[in-house]
Amino acid sequence: MTHRIERRPLGAGTPGTRREVMLHRFGEPGARPKAYFQAAIHADEIPALLAAHHLVRRLMAAEAEGAIRGEIVVAPFANPIGLDQQVNATHLGRHELGGGGNFNRNWPDLFPATAEKVADKLTDLEAANVVAIRAALAEVVAEMRPRTQLDFLRQTLAGEAVDADLVFDMHCDDDALMHLFLVPQHWPLTADIAAELGCHAVMLCEDSGGGSFDEAFSTPWIKLARQYPDHPIPAACLAITVEFRSQRDVNDRLAEADGAALFRSLQRHGVIDGDPGPLPEALCAATPLDACEFVKAPAPGVLSYEVELGERIEKDQVIAWLIDPAAEDPNAGRQAIRAGTDGLVLSRRDRLYVQPGDTLAKVVGREPLTAPKEKNLLGD
Ligand SMILES: [Zn+2]
Repeated sequence: MTHRIERRPLGAGTPGTRREVMLHRFGEPGARPKAYFQAAIHADEIPALLAAHHLVRRLMAAEAEGAIRGEIVVAPFANPIGLDQQVNATHLGRHELGGGGNFNRNWPDLFPATAEKVADKLTDLEAANVVAIRAALAEVVAEMRPRTQLDFLRQTLAGEAVDADLVFDMHCDDDALMHLFLVPQHWPLTADIAAELGCHAVMLCEDSGGGSFDEAFSTPWIKLARQYPDHPIPAACLAITVEFRSQRDVNDRLAEADGAALFRSLQRHGVIDGDPGPLPEALCAATPLDACEFVKAPAPGVLSYEVELGERIEKDQVIAWLIDPAAEDPNAGRQAIRAGTDGLVLSRRDRLYVQPGDTLAKVVGREPLTAPKEKNLLGD
């Protein structure tokens, strides 16, 4: 089967406009394992677009050599709605301007309806259960009744991810080192992917509370296994959020290496034939997501950092100064922002005038934080 391009029009567009999701398809439809990649559901996270571009180039070469064993689908730009959100010459791709919220939050929970559908179809055979559950999950997605164009986008992307063995949701952070988010059940199964990509943090959480894209496809399996403990049900969808460093880390050199790392990961997981070579040394161990401090702004102000990306810092160390430009006494208008944990400075902010509640930095610690937990561990 040759490389195919599919264009899936999105319904509910403004009259006179048309938007579509484009998919690159490789391998025989239905071949296993199936890997699904999507770039920049947060549409202004450009490193993901360039990494997907380089991955597709490699996949085309692999196909020409007949090396593709499974099925691979790549959405090289997952969010045409967000790509179009240029406001006063500024790209705003994280939230839908029509009021639909953060593009990577509130993905539907497929578990309840799937559990009902498979209740009398499960057996003692794991492989047969996987087939039955995948079919039920796909049905649940097909039965969604989209209203807005955003709903159509979500249904289209979900329809590709829902039956995949591997899902890579490709993002980036403001100013950050390479890192991953995934469920604990898939660690250390994905340690090779973290090593290939050169990750500085891997954060594990079964339910972040944010309804992220990756969890929409990995967690139903875990919940089904709990609901039906008498039947063997594996965590059969290995879904990962990959954060390709910083907004400004957009260049061929990095993205070509990232595409190659993803390609070798597909070889290691049996999707593509060929020897990926020796695994690079891991740069980090996995840690619980709730050991990562999302340092928040307590007040509006101007931020001046005291720490660098990648620095290892101690609890109570000053991360930044928050300066109140309206302070009558400028000496009293400087507030120290301190770390709540020992750890690695994984990310910082780009825009340095902040509002209360804005995330100023992520500090990756080892032990779960004792501060009261927020319902949504991912922030907004
Ligand atoms: Zn993102």
